[in-house]
Amino acid sequence: MNLFRILILGLLVWFVLRVLKSWRVEISPRDLPQSQGRKRADQDRYEPMAQCSQCGVHLPQRALATSGRCGACERSR
Ligand SMILES: [Zn+2]
Repeated sequence: MNLFRILILGLLVWFVLRVLKSWRVEISPRDLPQSQGRKRADQDRYEPMAQCSQCGVHLPQRALATSGRCGACERSR
């Protein structure tokens, strides 16, 4: 009985390993076009920095006003 359990356990481990391997093979070719999408997502996450034209502080480009100045400089005008 104990040997039978070990056999079933071994079969189960072998089956799980086989499924995992087939997944890895399936995923890797599909992963290539996605990596470009991931790169684009990274560009969204790490957006370009810009310098305030008045005080020189570096901020994300989106945070600068259209005049190229930071919020503090815009408010102090
Ligand atoms: Zn500023």
